[in-house]
Amino acid sequence: MVAAAAPAPVFDYDIVVIGGGPGGSTAAALARQRQLRVLVIEKEKFPRFHIGESLLPMGNAILRESGVWPKIEAMGAVRKYGALFFSANGVAEKEIVFADGLVPGLDYTYQVERAHFDQLLLTHARELGAEVREETRATAADAIPGGFRIQLSGAEGERTVTAAFVLDASGRENLVKTAQQRTLDPSPFPKRFAVYSHFRGVRRPTGRAAGHTIAVRLDNGWFWVIPITPEITSVGLVTTAEAIRRAGARPEEVFAQAVAASSKLRELMDGTTAIMPYHITNDYSYFRRELGTDRLLRVGDAGGFFDPIFSSGVYMTISGAKLAVELVSRALAEKRGLTSAELSRYTHTVKGHAGTFQKLIAAFYDNDSFAVFMSSGKRWGIEKAIVSVVGGHARQTWPMWWRFKVFLAVCWLQRRGVHVAPPVDYQTSVLNPHRALPAA
Ligand SMILES: Cc1cc2nc3c(=O)[nH]c(=O)nc-3n(C[C@H](O)[C@H](O)[C@H](O)COP(=O)(O)OP(=O)(O)OC[C@H]3O[C@@H](n4cnc5c(N)ncnc54)[C@H](O)[C@@H]3O)c2cc1C
Repeated sequence: MVAAAAPAPVFDYDIVVIGGGPGGSTAAALARQRQLRVLVIEKEKFPRFHIGESLLPMGNAILRESGVWPKIEAMGAVRKYGALFFSANGVAEKEIVFADGLVPGLDYTYQVERAHFDQLLLTHARELGAEVREETRATAADAIPGGFRIQLSGAEGERTVTAAFVLDASGRENLVKTAQQRTLDPSPFPKRFAVYSHFRGVRRPTGRAAGHTIAVRLDNGWFWVIPITPEITSVGLVTTAEAIRRAGARPEEVFAQAVAASSKLRELMDGTTAIMPYHITNDYSYFRRELGTDRLLRVGDAGGFFDPIFSSGVYMTISGAKLAVELVSRALAEKRGLTSAELSRYTHTVKGHAGTFQKLIAAFYDNDSFAVFMSSGKRWGIEKAIVSVVGGHARQTWPMWWRFKVFLAVCWLQRRGVHVAPPVDYQTSVLNPHRALPAA
């Protein structure tokens, strides 16, 4: 006699998504397109402020696939065709135009006010049939046979739900406790610090460059200048926690002093007003060693994030969401958990993309490599490949791979004193204690 197979456990949902940011809502939308039963848990009431306002064109295809792209195009957001990089005195200047990249089809994207953008994405997931609970916090996720039990706390009190899979897209806070949560990869970067606000009256370039992200490089840090509406611009200073400590002033004061010390920033910022209190984000670089188990995947910042300089965060979280949903929906169809091969594919893909950005980020922060980045070498399409990486093409296809390697090799030569590119003069910077401030 053949023993009857144990009945498959019955769960409330196929997938519980923790966090309704771009990673969580994109995962929910893609899962609903596959008819999966999805619950999204979000602790805040949207719209809510969030930093991370500059998108990358490489993400457009995923937003198209989730069906939300036409709604984004209709939002009236600022179109972003590229980026401008300056030294603090404005003498060194480089424009990146996405359409000039090696990879076709990455011509433009948008700068967004995240409060509206995130709400649009979450509403889209809801419209596709995802159950969305705002003002509800996931307080625990415990593995049970064949799935997860998730504890929720919200206006409706305490509640427990079960699901075959959890996608943890809870961002940097990453509150859900699991055994693996705290094990991090060794950080490739020092502890950095960002202080930022929204401003009115920031001067903008004209024409297509009006929607560019502007990055102004100081001696020991940089500013972002991101036009998020026709009137409002997001401006932030990034430096090391150590530089802020040495400056011995409040972060807002260091921000103002750094603007005053840079002729490029004065040109952009003179006469502007902050329209909200300054925000501070400290020590934001990390990557978790494990990005999941057989029933849980960490998506986006819940898995890791390196640095805002190349605006990779939203792209990384939505591309992680896409891959996570593809793997989970296949496992659901085959009534099983994720295999170790699937888990390592997820981890390698996410960390592989992060690794490309990591190398470009490291080059940006190194003065010699930054000089190479700022110079215009037209040979062999190297610059075109860098433009495509800046547009978000972090996948190392062969034509991209060897050109990126050559770029890194040239940076290496420059660091060793072979002057391939002219050095960049960073001008006086309050972040460099060895150089004097200009007279007021
Ligand atoms: C200073 C700075 C500047 C940046 N600039 C850029 C940029 O210009 N462009 C860019 O692409 N990226 C940028 N980023 C990165 C970007 O902000 C993130 O990578 C992106 O928001 C990640 O999206 P996510 O969906 O993974 O997480 P999030 O957007 O953080 O969403 C997570 C959601 O989960 C919710 N949540 C958390 N815990 C729980 C819980 N226990 N229960 C229920 N809900 C929960 C939160 O409320 C939140 O809404 C920047 C980051 C920093 C630090």
